[in-house]
Formats: sequence, C-alpha cells, structure tokens
Amino acid sequence: MVADATAPATNKFFAGHGKVKFGGLIKFTLIDFPGRPAAVIFTQGCNFRCRYCHNPELVYPHLFTEPVPQEEIMSFLQRRQGTLEGVVVSGGEPTLHDDLPAFMASIKSLGYVLKLDTNGSRPDMIQELIDKKLVDYIAMDLKAPLEKYALITGVDTNPEILTRSMDIIRQSGVAYEFRTTYDKEVLTDADIENLQNLTHHTCYRVQECLPVAKEKAALKVLHKEI
Ligand code: SF4
Repeated sequence: MVADATAPATNKFFAGHGKVKFGGLIKFTLIDFPGRPAAVIFTQGCNFRCRYCHNPELVYPHLFTEPVPQEEIMSFLQRRQGTLEGVVVSGGEPTLHDDLPAFMASIKSLGYVLKLDTNGSRPDMIQELIDKKLVDYIAMDLKAPLEKYALITGVDTNPEILTRSMDIIRQSGVAYEFRTTYDKEVLTDADIENLQNLTHHTCYRVQECLPVAKEKAALKVLHKEI
C-alpha cells in the first residue's frame, strides 16, 4: 500500500516543513506568469512522486542541493523592483511549508504580484494565502481523474482534499487555472474529457508530457522512498 499524501496523520511527507527552503530561482521568464514578466522561485520538498516529474532534485530529499538563502532571493527581488512585475512560487510543493504566508507577505511588501503553483494537497494553506490576500493567481495541477490519481502521483490521495482545494480556488475571486499534463501512458482522451467536466470547462489547460531526461529518470528509480 502506498502512503496517503493528503492525510496529515499518516504521512511524514505531508507534515508542515516549517521554514521554506529554496531549491532555485529563475531570474526572468515571460511564460510562467500570464501577462507578467516574472521570476520563479522553487521550494524544496514535495508530497507527491509524479512519474513524469522533471524536478526530482526538488522532490527527493537525498537529491536536495544546498538551499539558496532567503536573503539572497529577497535581495535579488529588491534589485529587480520596477523591472519584474510578478513572482511565481513553485516547487516541489510550496504549500507544505508552514511559513509560506510570511515569505509571500515579504515579497508582496516589495510590490510584486504573486502566483502560486500547487498540487492542491493542502487546501487550508491555499485558503490562508487567499484570506490574507497574498496570492494573485493560482495554478493547480489536476494530475488525473480522481480515481486514477495514484497512477500518476505514486501516492494515495484523498479526493475530498483535492476537490476542496478546487472549490476554494474557484470561489476565491483570485485568477486561476487548472492544468493537466497529458501522460498518454496512463491517461486517455476520455480521462481528459472527464477532467474538463470536473473543471466545468473553465480555466482548464492541458499540457504536453515531455520526456524526462534520462539522467533525471535514473535518479528517481534509484530512490523510491514511498
Ligand atoms: S507535484 Fe510537481 S514537483 Fe511534486 S512530484 Fe509531482 S510534478 Fe514533481
């Protein structure tokens, strides 16, 4: 039996990770935040183990690199005020980190617009960020129809948690998108149709599943910890 990544009491990967750790930074992008020149910050740690993940170094603890100090990120963002408009907080899974609201508040105080990339496994954190007006755009992955989730994520996932996150996002008034990576080895056209229905055909995007570089795939095979 695989672990349940959305059941806090039973999964060590779910537990709040305390202070945010940063695995990297893209200093400029025009494609990750709709309509905004932005930077992307990657947090370390994830409670899913997606079969096509392109960032194993942000997921598997033994592959983590020395974290980028938060001061370095903040100092970079201070220097780019007026040039960049947005900051994307991505991962890994950013919502695992209990001090994410404080971190995002510090970026907001510099005048940036914030986007969150999330797998939707921590609805309470998503709600908190919305309530505190710390997020301006939310992109939530929909990995598969709910009954097929584990085939993609490698972990059991409570569908109620995911639908709760979807409801919170839809009702928030914050701009959002749901998105699916179309892994044709697992998903079918009927699954995509099912997901389109789940999203009411609104703010939903399907993206191509790109092959994982061989060296990254090898890293994952070497380390199956769930
Ligand atoms: S949720 Fe994202 S970061 Fe986590 S394993 Fe899946 S693809 Fe990788």
